[in-house]
Amino acid sequence: MTTRREFIEESAGAVAGLAFVTCGLTGPASAEAQTQPRRREVVVNGRRVKTVDVHAHCAVPEAMALMNRKVSPETLLMSKASDRIRAMDEQGIDVEALSINPYWYKADRDVARQLIQIQNEKLAEACAANPDRFVAFASVALQHPDLAAEQLEEGVKKYGLRGAGLGGSVDGEELSSPRFHPFWAKAEQLGVLVFIHPQADGAPATLGNRLKGSGGLENAIGNPLETTIALSHLIFEGTLDQFPGLKICAAHGGGYLPSYAARSDAICVTFPDRCTKPLKKKPTEYLRQLYFDSLVFTPEALRHLVAETGSGQIVIGTDYPFPWTRTSVDHILGTPGLSDDERIAMLGGTAARLLGIKS
Ligand SMILES: [Zn+2]
Repeated sequence: MTTRREFIEESAGAVAGLAFVTCGLTGPASAEAQTQPRRREVVVNGRRVKTVDVHAHCAVPEAMALMNRKVSPETLLMSKASDRIRAMDEQGIDVEALSINPYWYKADRDVARQLIQIQNEKLAEACAANPDRFVAFASVALQHPDLAAEQLEEGVKKYGLRGAGLGGSVDGEELSSPRFHPFWAKAEQLGVLVFIHPQADGAPATLGNRLKGSGGLENAIGNPLETTIALSHLIFEGTLDQFPGLKICAAHGGGYLPSYAARSDAICVTFPDRCTKPLKKKPTEYLRQLYFDSLVFTPEALRHLVAETGSGQIVIGTDYPFPWTRTSVDHILGTPGLSDDERIAMLGGTAARLLGIKS
């Protein structure tokens, strides 16, 4: 049965997917966008900053059809690339790094191969139609790790994609599973960014009925929890030690992990027998090698995220087209205690470096 959350996510994802297809099929979308009346240009201390959003969803209906996932009529609300660009212009976002929320982790190898090929081709087309405004993360079939490694390499080398988008778990399996090491090895070798976004069938599904009811708890709590669990396993299972060159960015500010990070250090002090894998450093120190988007809602929350991870680890995440925020740029500009250089890095400098975007 489709839950309300799945319906909303599917609908909104497909909205963007249509934008995508239109974008890919009609080159003049960028010319149309250039006629938009107002584009906010972000300036810090007299310096124009190219802002980059690493958390921007889209979908490819043609690929979704292979898994019998349909585009619903409600998705027609924003069916053109120009609508997406208009929203970016209004919010002061110069470049979006597009990603597709995984829904294909149960697909067999043949379907997964075909589906990912379609998606990555469409992602490349969409980026090519508006190369100044879009880059994209490759989609990969991580349930088939060797195939996923091939798809990432092809995505980067053949299609010009800038990294990979993953769920926070893979059909119930943790990203830290040794089975996925071939993928992590390839991501490390290529030096590309891996964006981790929570899965609808991750922590929320595991908690079952406890997240039902008012409040959208499967999203409000479940999504950040999924990310918290995923990152914690990557730390405590030694995955980040084994692949120290990995560049990983977590959605939603890393979920709850940076908010309560010191407990991850305290557990190994208080109950040392529960930390069965030797780590090269304290658990919280790994936060300073991971990246996090800025979708944490208040200046105080962002200030704390910076305190735990370092300003050089934070990038903009809007979660477009989900309307969590329209003020991601002001969020960074308005957070206290940051230098101009730190704001510039968070607004786009760090993401541009990670994603190979020319500033
Ligand atoms: Zn999202």
